[in-house]
Amino acid sequence: MARTDFQSPPGTRDITEPEASRARHLVALFAEEARRAGFERVITPMFEDVGVFVRLGEASDVVTKELYAFEDKGGRTIALRPEFTASVCRAFVQHRPLTPWKTWYEGPAFRYDKPQKGRYRQFDQLGVEVIGSNDPDIDTEVIALADRFLRRVGLTGYTLIINSLGDFADRPSYLSALTGFFESRAADLSEQAKATLAINPLRVLDSKRPGDAAVAAEAPTIIEYLSDDAAAAFERVKNGLDALGVPYEVDPRLVRGLDYYTRTTFEFASDSLDAAQNALGGGGRYDGLVEALGGPAEPGVGFSMGVDRTLLAADAEGVLPPPATAVDVWVVATTPGTEGLALVEELRRAGIAADRAYDGRSMKAQMKAANRSQSALAVILGEDELSAGTVSVRAMRPDAVALPSDTQQFEVDRPQLIETVRSLLS
Ligand code: AMP
Repeated sequence: MARTDFQSPPGTRDITEPEASRARHLVALFAEEARRAGFERVITPMFEDVGVFVRLGEASDVVTKELYAFEDKGGRTIALRPEFTASVCRAFVQHRPLTPWKTWYEGPAFRYDKPQKGRYRQFDQLGVEVIGSNDPDIDTEVIALADRFLRRVGLTGYTLIINSLGDFADRPSYLSALTGFFESRAADLSEQAKATLAINPLRVLDSKRPGDAAVAAEAPTIIEYLSDDAAAAFERVKNGLDALGVPYEVDPRLVRGLDYYTRTTFEFASDSLDAAQNALGGGGRYDGLVEALGGPAEPGVGFSMGVDRTLLAADAEGVLPPPATAVDVWVVATTPGTEGLALVEELRRAGIAADRAYDGRSMKAQMKAANRSQSALAVILGEDELSAGTVSVRAMRPDAVALPSDTQQFEVDRPQLIETVRSLLS
């Protein structure tokens, strides 16, 4: 017998109402904030040549362990996007739009992660990228946009953490100091951290294991190794955030999960989520990524937020109620012809949200359905109304409609229906 007990694959979820509308509402809020800040939308494919993502860094878990990569029927090695920045840079290199190219995006990303609350194998991200400017004011604006979005959602219980990773030219002296330090403390590091040390010592700073974190807390910080240029840019970003009244904390150990970051890096940590999954989102500069993807030496800066995590934080803070999904009008029709069908269609064509019951239910059963639907109005068509050329209009939620008198139900001539419904709902 063929298997029939299918479930959604581990780490994926079916998102139903009211959560589905809530997620869409969140994205709509973000789209509006992004547009107000001069960002255009970009839609890139959900999969790319695996090489696009390999540039994200040989020491990133996202690349080494979590990539959904496979060979397609044409023999290409394809990977589902684990994030958006690399795809946006690839698109920039391919199309060479005018700079600065300011884009926003949203959609699913895929990582073969260990599923748990707030960590899924398919999850939604939204974010922005700005390619083609070194101006640190852009870093500030990008951070301010993320902050404005989180405030708009209603969140207040989060902390913005910032750092500067300097330029690639600042790295060698810092990396050798860091490597020297970690080697001197190798006895206290996990096997995993020691393996990471050989590939990218920066990532050891990021280790969440308590033993590693204790060692990392004593490590030399990149801040002491910044070039004058990078240090001045970091000052400018901090002054900008101060000027805009965006609160932040500097954490010289914030390195983030991907290897491509330079200069400004930042993360929004929620106070109401478990420490292992408390990052609502983050981002920073990636001044070498466009070039690594075969493009010109154009710098970039951006962030991405997890939609699922942001919604979990909204739950925890009791903000962002789901938008109403009920229709405005419920059609109750007991005549055997196509009158009910036509009535619903007429309402919908007039731009009024309307629905009905099916299967020839009794008046009583249909009224029950109308009640359950939370619709503001019921439009009732029985034999009496049909022969009189009228319909009855009933206020199901009197608080939600502008009734002309205190009668809850009245008859209107059939041709007057749309106008009546419109004025009741206005
Ligand atoms: P990252 O690119 O790892 O910095 O991810 C950016 C944001 O995406 C994170 O702060 C999370 O909000 C979200 N995110 C990353 N990985 C996952 C995942 N496996 N499940 C749910 N959300 C995720």
